[in-house]
Amino acid sequence: MSRKMLVVGNWKMNGLRAQLADVEAIGVVAGQHLDVEVGLCVPATLLAAASEKSGAAFVGAQDCHQKESGAHTGCLSAEMVKEAGAAQVIVGHSERRTDQHESNADVAAKALAARSHGLKVILCLGESLETRDSGKAIAFVLDQLEASLPEGAAADWLSIAYEPIWAIGTGRIPTMEQISEMHSAIRAKLLDLVGGGAADAMRILYGGSVNADNARDIFAIEDVDGGLVGGASLTAAKFGPIIQAAAG
Ligand code: PEP
Repeated sequence: MSRKMLVVGNWKMNGLRAQLADVEAIGVVAGQHLDVEVGLCVPATLLAAASEKSGAAFVGAQDCHQKESGAHTGCLSAEMVKEAGAAQVIVGHSERRTDQHESNADVAAKALAARSHGLKVILCLGESLETRDSGKAIAFVLDQLEASLPEGAAADWLSIAYEPIWAIGTGRIPTMEQISEMHSAIRAKLLDLVGGGAADAMRILYGGSVNADNARDIFAIEDVDGGLVGGASLTAAKFGPIIQAAAG
């Protein structure tokens, strides 16, 4: 099954209007590699402006609330981020699971809320270093997948991102064998959970210290269908070569 590579930047709590020039430049690189789907998940404050500058790249949000509206100070609904310009949304990033205490059930509910407003979803999974060192990483991630996968999950609106927590922002990545083993285990679990066609078509991204030097090797792994990239997505100079690596 050939799956279109998906490469998404996660700007986290970085980016002011001054960085819109990089959004524009990344959109230009995306336009030169239309065989790769490229996106930038910018802070909510930049969604509207970035979506006017992003060219061939889509703009996404980094989270949305599971409820439609109400007394949730500081939160944004799926409909709000959609209206501001998001085409996709990240749910279940480990930083939110930790800092905002989001549960698997919250993550599944956020994905469904996003879906109901026509947003595509990138669902993040990943183990801590302690879990990795205990030899239980695969079991942990597969349980997390089962518990946070929204009902009706399908490849046309949902992608998975495997992001070992210990690799995020550390410069340390798993071995290629560990990435391969985890991605094929996720694919096999998806087969149980959503059936053969959907499991084959669903993209599984790798995230955690992807950069221009390691992207080509990571993207060459069979069940890796792209990347979720933090620090190295903040400038066109760093993100451009990663997009090129995904284009092959
Ligand atoms: C992330 O937080 O999604 C991420 C992958 O970060 P980094 O690339 O900086 O490790």
